[in-house]
Amino acid sequence: MKQDIKSMTISELQAAFDALGEPKFRAGQVYSWLHRGARSFADMTNLSKALRQRLDELFFITVPEVVRKQTDPEDGTIKYLWRLMDGNCVETVLMRYHHGNTVCISSEVGCPMGCAFCASTIGGLVRRLSPAEMLDEVLFTQLDSGLEISNIVLMGIGEPLDNFDNVLRFLELVNSENGMNIGMRHISLSTCGVVPRIDELAEKGLQLTLSVSLHAPDDETRSRIMPVNRRWNVEELLDACRRYFAKTGRRISFEYAMIRGVNDTPEAAALLLKRLRGMQAHVNLIPLNHVDESPLEPSTKETVAAFQQALERGGVTCTVRRTLGGNIDASCGQLRRRYEKNN
Ligand code: SAH
Repeated sequence: MKQDIKSMTISELQAAFDALGEPKFRAGQVYSWLHRGARSFADMTNLSKALRQRLDELFFITVPEVVRKQTDPEDGTIKYLWRLMDGNCVETVLMRYHHGNTVCISSEVGCPMGCAFCASTIGGLVRRLSPAEMLDEVLFTQLDSGLEISNIVLMGIGEPLDNFDNVLRFLELVNSENGMNIGMRHISLSTCGVVPRIDELAEKGLQLTLSVSLHAPDDETRSRIMPVNRRWNVEELLDACRRYFAKTGRRISFEYAMIRGVNDTPEAAALLLKRLRGMQAHVNLIPLNHVDESPLEPSTKETVAAFQQALERGGVTCTVRRTLGGNIDASCGQLRRRYEKNN
């Protein structure tokens, strides 16, 4: 069985080359070919033919294929639907902000978490992505669009902390000096609240931004829309967030999708304030994206504005997420969902 060479770290590659009787610097050459998007060993023209052939016998190189590419004519957001080598599809979104081009990548094919408002989880989890497949989302988005990527958010399909080891390895790859060299401070990881993994992540002391999908301040509502809350409730989650901050010094960003009549009342705002008091937190309100299969509806603009004001008055910084790519199904697993339904 061939090995996935792009999921290997530089030191693993060096060890493999050492075992082949090849000098260390060759591993470095191959590593930089891979991280510049080489599609085959034949492309690696500074290696001998014999070595290229040997590598081709031992390893494979992942290459995703573009199935759909949609560009929003208004804001320039580009959405890719990729076909992976086993035929599964995932999506990546490229958003153009003033502070740089940001890619939102998927970490799994489907998702096991079951949130009631989310299109990604409807068919459950199909499988987890390899480190190379996540790297490919960043790499091939950059290559195809011709736009340099400076920021990454792990907020696409899947729960990154359910694919913990592969995600950590992906972070090491994309952060590496001989690779894309994207700084940890330019990376955000979003979780629905897998508490033990938040603690494990804290231990790593990475400088990335942790985003936590809170979406409700009380257990009754949160358990209703997010099954993960029945396993780790709001208090346990917020405790983990406090430990995370104490360990890393990184302020947590809370995501809060505004759902009409569910979590958008003045009482919810007051309870949220109370629970976040004393925490270094930032709240990001997301107007809910309507998903066909779900009865949940977005809050009105006025309700969102009132909720934001209530938080700000209470001393919690709060922003409303600008919606990008509204014309192209560019959110939360909707493109993949539609494609799979029609095919
Ligand atoms: N599994 C991770 C990351 C992927 S989802 C997590 O739960 O955080 C990225 C964000 O989009 C999460 O905050 C998620 O709750 C939110 N989201 C999912 N479906 C949505 C929808 N229909 N409208 C608005 N936000 C949604």
